[in-house]
Amino acid sequence: MPPASMSCATCRKAIAPGTRWVRCSVASCNTGRLKLRFCTQKCWEAHVPTARHRKASFVEEGGAAE
Ligand SMILES: [Zn+2]
Ligand SMILES: [Zn+2]
Repeated sequence: MPPASMSCATCRKAIAPGTRWVRCSVASCNTGRLKLRFCTQKCWEAHVPTARHRKASFVEEGGAAE
């Protein structure tokens, strides 16, 4: 089974394994088949108004740091 390809939900840039990426803190953006990932905080910020979140923050994932 090929691994799910990771790409930014905003700019569609590929997110390479081992690189840092950003996810949305809103649960509906991280459940089910739609797991949104963003290559940068800027791309996440572009997502927030389109998703009509009332309260949202971003979480950094990936990379070497916790
Ligand atoms: Zn992006
Ligand atoms: Zn979201």
